[in-house]
Amino acid sequence: MTVYLDHNATTPLRAEAREAALRALDVGGNPSSVHAAGRAARKIIEDARETVAALLGARADEVVFTSGGTEAANLALAGRDAAAVIVSAVEHPCVLEAAPGAARAPVDADGVIDLGALEALLVDAPAETLVCVMAANNETGAVQPIADVIELAKAHGARVFVDAVQAAGRLDINFAAMGADYMSVSSHKLGGPAGAGALLVRDGAPVSRLVRGGGQERGLRAGTENLAGIAGFAAACAAVQTAPRAGPELRDALEQSLRAVAPDVVIFAEGRERLNNTTCFASPGVAGETALIALDLEGVCVSYGAACSSGKTAPSHVLRAMGAADDLAPCALRVSTGWTTTMADIEAFLSAFETVYARLAPRAPLAAVG
Ligand code: PLP
Repeated sequence: MTVYLDHNATTPLRAEAREAALRALDVGGNPSSVHAAGRAARKIIEDARETVAALLGARADEVVFTSGGTEAANLALAGRDAAAVIVSAVEHPCVLEAAPGAARAPVDADGVIDLGALEALLVDAPAETLVCVMAANNETGAVQPIADVIELAKAHGARVFVDAVQAAGRLDINFAAMGADYMSVSSHKLGGPAGAGALLVRDGAPVSRLVRGGGQERGLRAGTENLAGIAGFAAACAAVQTAPRAGPELRDALEQSLRAVAPDVVIFAEGRERLNNTTCFASPGVAGETALIALDLEGVCVSYGAACSSGKTAPSHVLRAMGAADDLAPCALRVSTGWTTTMADIEAFLSAFETVYARLAPRAPLAAVG
């Protein structure tokens, strides 16, 4: 039996999302067609737009469907001059690589953006600069002071893009109240199918088209819509909105027991506001990559740093930006819980980790017998 504790990479498909996606697969019409089959498909898209908007405190006409969080970030950044983009140093690669050459706002040892440094960058920034700051980090779960970032950016005439891929459904998100210009979300992090997501765009915020060749999504994202993906995405949003939100109990139990097994464990961003579902930790001397494989052999799925791109094993840019020691960052593992997780999963992880740790942890040299 597999114990799945990698929900920040992707969370299992919810039954409601599977059913909605399967129903949509059988609709048959193209949402752009004017006949009855087309109109039935169009209704699924427009109902989905309302549902996604409702979860995020947005208006339906602010939702632009994309293929996921990566495309949504690329769309927000399309056509921008790097000199007019500021990113936090811990952004997901979909932001960092879509804005090569952008100024990087540093973070503190917990991975929280340095507002003073951001302000210094804004003072010299051109008009209409775009500030990109994620609501919560995918590796550590650290929550960013988004309200402060937006206030600062607005005071300097800048626009703000918030990557809410990990925060949606886990934190209260209200696009209207927040005042961001753009926000990204992803279906498969919410229990919908992969391959769907959205960029929210506030009225009047400029967007450069990334995919051309059709008038779909108000001309902002050409191509026949992923009807089943969008239907599943919306069903997941509806399920998330009605389900009780998990508290920090599982995470706290996990971290307490982790310390009992490995007293020297370092838990990143431990003292700061973090997502309730994320623990990023390192045991000095225990290589994360080796521990991950050993845990996998014990039937436990976790990740080493970020696991968004397949096979990625490079030390995390997030931990580096936080100033983690060179010999500690490669020891990092991420455990992330989600809607399927029970205390039994946490206990199974801890039992497997205890076995793995006993095998891999460096031993203190034996004292010489006199
Ligand atoms: N942004 C963050 C913070 C993420 O964690 C991820 C994926 O892990 C993405 C963006 C990319 O989303 P998608 O997988 O939908 O392209």
